[in-house]
Formats: sequence, C-alpha cells, structure tokens
Amino acid sequence: MNPFSYRDGILHAEAVPLPQIAADHGTPCYVYSRTVLQSRFDEFRRALAGRDALVCYAVKANSNLAILNLFARAGAGFDIVSGGELARVLAAGGDPAKVVFSGVGKTADEMREALAAGILCFNVESAAELERLDQVAGSLGRRAPVSLRVNPDVDPKTHPYIATGLKSAKFGIPFEEALPLYRRARALPHIDVHGIDCHIGSQLLDPAPAAEAAAKLLGLVDALAAEGIALSHIDLGGGMGIRYRDEAVPSTAEYLAPLLAVLAGRKERLLFEPGRSLVGNAGVLLTRIEYLKHGEAKNFAVVDAAMNDLMRPALYDAWHDILPVAQAAGAAAEYEIVGPVCESGDFLGHARRLAVAPGDLLAVMSAGAYGMAMSSNYNTRPRAAEVIVDGSRVHLVRERERVGQLFAGERVLL
Ligand SMILES: *Cc1c(COP(=O)(O)O)cnc(C)c1O
Repeated sequence: MNPFSYRDGILHAEAVPLPQIAADHGTPCYVYSRTVLQSRFDEFRRALAGRDALVCYAVKANSNLAILNLFARAGAGFDIVSGGELARVLAAGGDPAKVVFSGVGKTADEMREALAAGILCFNVESAAELERLDQVAGSLGRRAPVSLRVNPDVDPKTHPYIATGLKSAKFGIPFEEALPLYRRARALPHIDVHGIDCHIGSQLLDPAPAAEAAAKLLGLVDALAAEGIALSHIDLGGGMGIRYRDEAVPSTAEYLAPLLAVLAGRKERLLFEPGRSLVGNAGVLLTRIEYLKHGEAKNFAVVDAAMNDLMRPALYDAWHDILPVAQAAGAAAEYEIVGPVCESGDFLGHARRLAVAPGDLLAVMSAGAYGMAMSSNYNTRPRAAEVIVDGSRVHLVRERERVGQLFAGERVLL
C-alpha cells in the first residue's frame, strides 16, 4: 500500500485528504504516515529475526518526539550525536540502555550526561576522545562502555557530503590505527571495551560496500580476540538508501542479506543505526503556491515552503518528487519551484511540468528524513508544523513556530 496516493484526484495521506490538513494546520506543514514509520521498522525487525540484534534509530534524521516515541514503543534503540538528542530520547520515553552515542566532537558535559543516563555505548571517533572519556568517567567514579568507530576505507559511491567511510573523511579511526587504540582502551582504568562500529555513508543503494566494510571489521574483531580483547557487539551503522525519484532501491531484507551472510555464525550482537530508511518515505512537505511568475527564460512557482524548511535541494542538489495535491486537467507548463528566501539557491525543484494555479497545494515527497531536522529560521521564518496521520486521524505533533518565539532570547543594548 502506498500511504500517499490519489483518491478521486486528490492526494491523501493514508485516509486523510491533504487539503484538509492544509485547512486545519496551515502550510508549510510536514505530514508523516504512522503506517510507513511502523512498517519500515518492522521490515528491519523481520530481516533480523533470529539474530541477537538491536536497531538504533539515528535520531538526527528526524527527531520529533512523537516519532522517537513510536520507535521506542516498537522496541528501538537510538543513535544520538549530541546531548540534545539524548534529552529528546529520554523525553520521548526511549530506553537509555539502548542508546549509542556517535559523533566526532562529544563535549565533556555531553559525556557526563550520557554516563549519568546509563547509555549502552559510546562510539569513540578518536584517540583524544578516548582519553577524555576515560577522565570524565573517572571523575564520576564510573566506567564508560565504548566501541571504536573504525574507518574501513571503502567507497560507498554516494554524494561526497554524505560519504563518511573514506580515508579522507573526518569520521572514525583509520583502520591501521584501530588495533593499537584498542590496546590503549583496554589499559585505561575507566573504559570498558564493548564493541566495534562503522558507518560508511548515507543514501547507499548498493549493499556491497557495507558487506565489504563488515568483512574488514570482522578481520579486526578476530585479531582483537587473539589478543584477549573480546567484543560483545558489532555496530554496522546506517546508510540504507530510499527512493527519491526512480532509483532501484533494494528492500531492507535485500540490503541486509549480503551483510548478514558475511556475519553468519558470529556470536556478537549486531547493531544497526538506520535513519533515512526508517523515516524518509514516511513524510511529505505540504506547501501552497503563492504566485506564478512567468519570466522570459523560465516560469516560477513561488511556494510558501523554502530552503529553510527543506534544505536538501539547496545543500545536495537533491531531487524530491513534487506532486500537485489536486490532479488538474489544465495546460501544464514547466516551473522552477522556489521559495520566498532571498537566495538563488532557494529552490525545491527545477523544471517540473505541472498544471497549477496560484493557491494550489503541492506535496514535496520523501521529505521525512533530514527535512524538518535540518530546518532553520533563516529569513526569520517560523518553522513548519508537523502532523502524523494514522488512518483517518491527524495528530499535531509539533505546533507551527510563532514569530515571537524566534527572538524571545535576544536583547538590545542598554
Ligand atoms: C547519519 C548517521 C546515521 C544514519 O544515517 P542514514 O543514512 O540516515 O541511515 C547512522 N550512524 C551515524 C554515525 C550517522 O552519522
């Protein structure tokens, strides 16, 4: 079932016509499908059935509390990259004992918060971070559970901004330096070595690089075991791609199969950190056309959503399908879909053929991941509302920001 489909010419989210959501909650508005969120998580669970495995949702893809809460109730753990995300997970009812903490710049305060919460593991990304974590844990009289995030130097064949497993990346520990750093970790008084971690990139459509990375990791795991450093878990990160346009996307089971084949017979617990693949296709950004502008070279549809609401087109030149909410029979023309922000990079789509009029609604598809989460207040634009549709019900899960909130913390000089 496609939860975003036309019924009598009107695009629906599950059983709810999108114009109804626009009327009740305004635009721009992020609309998520509970069915998709649940079914994407279930696909992971089914693909991992019979294994000791934990799916740690990567909070940064979409950190709305309602989404975190749905995944927590489904049994998910969480991959966080900041103290703020830890606070969100706890506020949403997530289990800290299922939280892994990634990221190259963890502060001492963030380490203290995570130790106090009792997280499952720190994914340590450098020697300096390991030393700091040992000190911080010692100052609290605790021991910190760690994995080292190893950089397997495989090419994930994705956009350079989201390739993270190459030698040139700022992420992770170079493969050759991992063994000596594990020895160091074992010697530190306030560190407990638990696992190994890698995350090679995002929007990966070919499972081969991840399987290759897993094989490299296993070589290291065995070398560590030979030295008496036994790991209890292997974290393979996230990165599974989704369909934005016409990409050939493997199912969750198809993507995981080569990886699980490499890992067959291993006793270590498996962790995964999917973000985009759990939420990306679960959301659309609903926006209204303010003006049509017919220039000499191009036609523009100026909509009320902008790069501050959905940054991916401006940042990565990313493609999102843009569908008219009401299918119209009128004459189509080619439009640049642009927002009101004062930047030429403020576009949501180029050269889209649409039969539209001012006031019409458009749906920017596959916007559930890295949409709202990357939004900003540029141009002092309040951020969009967010709703979750569940069958015929619509739940407002984040109110539209009010302008007054945006400068409530600012002061003028006396
Ligand atoms: C971003 C990130 C993820 C999630 O990536 P997706 O491509 O959204 O699945 C997982 N782990 C780490 C360490 C990340 O930085």
